[in-house]
Order: sequence, then C-alpha cells, then structure tokens
Amino acid sequence: MTHLPNSLQGRDIRFLMHPVTNARAHERTGPLVIARGEGVRVFDEDGNAYIEGMAGLWSVALGFSEPRLVEAATRQMERLPYMHLFSSRGQEPSIALAEKLVQMTPEGLDRVHFTNSGSEANDTVIKMVWFWNNAIGRPEKKKFIARLKGYHGITIGSGSLTGLPGNHKGFDLPLDFVRHVSTPHHWREAHEGESEEAFSDRLAAELEAVILAEGPGTVAAFIAEPLVGAGGVIEPPAGYWRKVQEVCRRHDVLIVADEVINGFGRTGRMFACETYDIAPDILVLSKQITSSYQPLAAIVFSDRIYQGIADGSERLGTFGHGFTTAGHPVATAVALENLAIIEERGLVEHAAAMGRILQAGLRRHADHPHVGEVRGTGLIAAVEFVEDKAAKQGSTPPGRLAQAVAAAAQRNGLLLRPIGEAVCFCPPLIITEAEMEELLERFARAMGEVF
Ligand code: PLP
Repeated sequence: MTHLPNSLQGRDIRFLMHPVTNARAHERTGPLVIARGEGVRVFDEDGNAYIEGMAGLWSVALGFSEPRLVEAATRQMERLPYMHLFSSRGQEPSIALAEKLVQMTPEGLDRVHFTNSGSEANDTVIKMVWFWNNAIGRPEKKKFIARLKGYHGITIGSGSLTGLPGNHKGFDLPLDFVRHVSTPHHWREAHEGESEEAFSDRLAAELEAVILAEGPGTVAAFIAEPLVGAGGVIEPPAGYWRKVQEVCRRHDVLIVADEVINGFGRTGRMFACETYDIAPDILVLSKQITSSYQPLAAIVFSDRIYQGIADGSERLGTFGHGFTTAGHPVATAVALENLAIIEERGLVEHAAAMGRILQAGLRRHADHPHVGEVRGTGLIAAVEFVEDKAAKQGSTPPGRLAQAVAAAAQRNGLLLRPIGEAVCFCPPLIITEAEMEELLERFARAMGEVF
C-alpha cells in the first residue's frame, strides 16, 4: 500500500519507529491511525468505527470517552500539575491512592510504591527484593523464577522475567538471575489423559525441583500472572495456584502476582488473586488502574518487606531508586476517579455478567474444525486456531490463521489482537449486552470470511 508523503500514514512511516512492530512490514502497510474514541468504539481518520475488542492494550476499562477522568485530570493540572515523591516530598493524590489500594487489595498488602509503567514496576520489584534480601542478611537469595509465556514487561529486568522468545531475540536476554518454568496450559501442554489436577501436581513438582536444584537459599521470588494475558490468555488449571503457593511457602520464596492485565475486574473479581485464591507478598498493578488515560503502575506489598527495606535504608543507605514522574499527581488523581467510577457503577459485577456472555458466545465456535481451543474467564478470552484439530497443529507459517481472522475482524469493524495461533479478546469493562452481541456477530462474520 502506498501512502502520500504528507498524509498521516506517510509521515508516520517517515518519522516514527513503533514499539513491538516489524519496521519493514510497517513501512509496507502503514499504521491504522485512530483519531478519536467514544465508549467502546474508536474511529479512524476516515470516520470508520471499530469496537475496541482489546480495550487498547488490555487496559481502557471505562472506554474512550469518560468525562469524569478528563475533569479529574484538569482539576489536578490546575491545582498542582507536578510534584515528585523523592526525598520525603509528598502530594495528596498519591497519598490518597496508596491508602485506597491498601484498603481494596487482598489482606496482607500494606504498602505502595508507584512507577509509570508495568515494566518499570517489575524492574522495581526485582530491585526491591534484592535490596530487601541484602538488608536482612540474605545476599545470596536473588534469583527469580518466572514462567514460559509469562509477560512481565520489556525493560532489561522485566524483559528477562518475560518468558516469550520474541521479546528476547536480538536483545541478549534473559539475564542470568531468572529461571523459567513451564506454562500452565493444560490443553497444549498436558500429557495424553492427564487431568488438570495431575498436570498441576506435575508443574508444582517441576517448580520445586528447580528451587531445589538452584538451592532454596538462592531463590528469592516466583513471579506469575494469575491468568496469563499477553502470552495468549491462559487460565490456570484446577489446583495450580494452591500447589505452587505451597511450594513457594515451603522454601521461603516470595510470591509476586503480576495483575497488570488481570487487576480491577478483568476476571470478574476486583483482583484475580481473589478469583484464584492467591495470597501474594507483592501485587503489581497498572493499565486499568487509570483506564490508561494516564501512565501509572503500583506495587502493593507486605509490611514484612517494607520493614526490611526501611531498616536497610538506615544500615545500607537510602533506598536509592525512583522515577521523576512516578506517582505523578495527575495520574494518581485520575486513578482515584477511575476506581471510584468502577465501584459506583458496579463494573466488576458487570464485567462478570458480560464475561459470561462473551465466554458462552465464543464457545459456540468450539466445534469448528479450525478452532483448537476457546479459553478465558470474565472479560478476557482467546480463540486458538489449528490447521489439524486432532493433532492440535498450528498454522503455517505460524500465526497465519489468527492473523487472517484478526484482519477480517478489522474489516468488519472489530479490533482484536492476534498472539501466536490465537486471537485475543479483552473489551472495555463498560461494554453493554447489545455491544457484546455486536462484537460476537462481527467475530462470527470474520470467521466466515476466513474459513
Ligand atoms: N506485566 C503484565 C502482566 C503485562 O501484561 C504488561 C504489559 O502488557 C506489563 C507487565 C508491562 O507493562 P508496560 O507495558 O506498562 O510496561
């Protein structure tokens, strides 16, 4: 496709390098330039409307036109547009949001530290855990165990935790402080006839074997998304979280729940830790915390870790870590308003109800000869395609079918995200029943065009 040099597409190709984009392929096709948004829809430059079936990047809980978030940002900008939190400086929205997060998150999480993005948050978790273990006299306890297909970000530390080869290739990652264990994907990874419980036993045993092989005195933390998001929407099998938590507790390994996608209603509960009965030592939040109207992430963690770091600051020296715009007052003010709206409008219960329609609607395609698996819970789902259903064999070249379905969905006014052999769904929490039916209809039409 050729674009005029002075069109938005032409200027984009000329001046921008996009994140997570094949630059040469992008030069050939150009961008889909989105001009504005309204509710669950976005509109391109030519006025074509799309249902944003991915809520941007799994993140725009309140849709694309919530006036109260705009007003909250404006109010804060007028009052105090910026103040940092370094060296004991404070500002009201960050204090109020920290208090709110401690109150609303699961029991045992007592302190909050802010960053700008999920990647920064997970990098910060690594440094906090290292600092903590140094402070309490365990300098050897530094390794992190993460999972294949887990996504924890893209910076050097968080990118090392990420278990996706596509994010490592060409970057000399992962660094050596990380070990990856199996992804808990029963449909794809279980042995023939293996039950979910038996599969979970096997993965818990694998985790324990890795901890023992490394030496429990060297393993600091296990990090995982309660439900895998960007690795292709993978629900944990029955018993998985109970069993891996037992292993971690046995070896004094911290549990870090990365709810950057899962948090704030996505799985039909406020936090996926409630959905799957997880008691983390550290909880990582971002994306829906502001509906992504502002960049913000939060690390909510136990008093035990806080006390160690606080004591360490006296003995080792100041906790010398932070970002200029971390806990930005405009971002934290928007987060407070966003969370107030989610609660006032009962959007978590709404997400659970709309999720039941989404999951049932997608499962109507389960018998299709090219659908291998339909999976997900709440308002997050994936449909994985196969070339050969019995052999669970994906397409050639890899991802061909998912990309074709996502392209057909886009032609039908629905934006989805192809990941590997799957297309993913993660609509805004505010989606109505009528809009959900429209989304499902458009997806069915896209399937009809491809197969
Ligand atoms: N953790 C999870 C679970 C994510 O899904 C993401 C982003 O998709 C991140 C961390 C990184 O967040 P960010 O893109 O804001 O750096």
